Amino acid sequence: MPELDIVTAFQCDEGSRPIKVRSSSDPDKVYTVVPGDEETEPSCTCRGYRFRGTCKHLKEAIRHRCGWHSIYDGSPAMTDVHKTRKICPRCGGRLRVVRVGV
Ligand SMILES: [Zn+2]
Ligand SMILES: [Zn+2]
Repeated sequence: MPELDIVTAFQCDEGSRPIKVRSSSDPDKVYTVVPGDEETEPSCTCRGYRFRGTCKHLKEAIRHRCGWHSIYDGSPAMTDVHKTRKICPRCGGRLRVVRVGV
């Protein structure tokens, strides 16, 4: 049996960060969208999401999500500055530390 090596990796935390989206039909309405990722449930505060479990705000948020991962994404490469300050080299957002089996 090959043994699984657990290594420490970094992943962009953008999926868990709520984004404010203005409603296209009602400019006074602002929805809060969480794109979601492996550890975070996606959500949106609009009615469409509550009824259907998905909506265009969420789809947009997912499409623009960074999702950078230090193991699966070689570029842009991570520097020591990114590593020590936990900054995503792609979007400049926060990084979270994750454990990955390789
Ligand atoms: Zn929505
Ligand atoms: Zn990022």
